[in-house]
Amino acid sequence: MEFPQRLIDGYGSFLSERLPHEQSRFRALAETGQHPEIMVIGCSDSRVSPEVIFDARPGELFVARNVANLVPPYTPDGATRAVSAALEFAVQALKVKHIVVLGHAQCGGIRVYAENAAPLSPGDFIGHWMALIAPAAKAVGPRGDLPLTDYLTKLEQASIVQTLDNLMTFPCVKILADRGRLSLHAAYFGVASGELSVQDRASGEFRRIAAEQHAKAFQGPRF
Ligand SMILES: [Zn+2]
Repeated sequence: MEFPQRLIDGYGSFLSERLPHEQSRFRALAETGQHPEIMVIGCSDSRVSPEVIFDARPGELFVARNVANLVPPYTPDGATRAVSAALEFAVQALKVKHIVVLGHAQCGGIRVYAENAAPLSPGDFIGHWMALIAPAAKAVGPRGDLPLTDYLTKLEQASIVQTLDNLMTFPCVKILADRGRLSLHAAYFGVASGELSVQDRASGEFRRIAAEQHAKAFQGPRF
């Protein structure tokens, strides 16, 4: 099997464009280690890369991605738990100051759950994994007459909020959050629009950020 040509080409671009600008930064990070202040828990979806959306440089974001950006509740049962391990490392070793749960529109995982779609694979890992959002679906309530897109948006956003609740079941997170040394944030990215919303703590609503800048980026003729 040949290594994918797309990756060879991409690495070539990295060598000629990005590496020359970032080389000293990479070297410093290799010597002193990484000290990111922000952890992002995002979806594996290929359209929602946190480094791209937040224009992040090497060493700035500690990222854990999985299907539908979920964090199972704290379960110290000795099982191999990828998200819990990443979270523990970020909070206890790196001492990040922020955890951003980044959800998005058109999330395939959320849609599978909402439509009770057949398992995507015979092993049904997706089905079991997505069952984690059952409490969020309960909080949203039945779809009723709501158009599917609107219902999915509600479910996607409720799922992010539930993930924040699940994060608080981890003692290491709760202690630091209660002391004000760690902040949790719920963010939502509109894939088609490029809009970013962040949940307002007081109202619980997701509100656009940098909306004016976004409008500017789309105004006038584009070539
Ligand atoms: Zn997704």
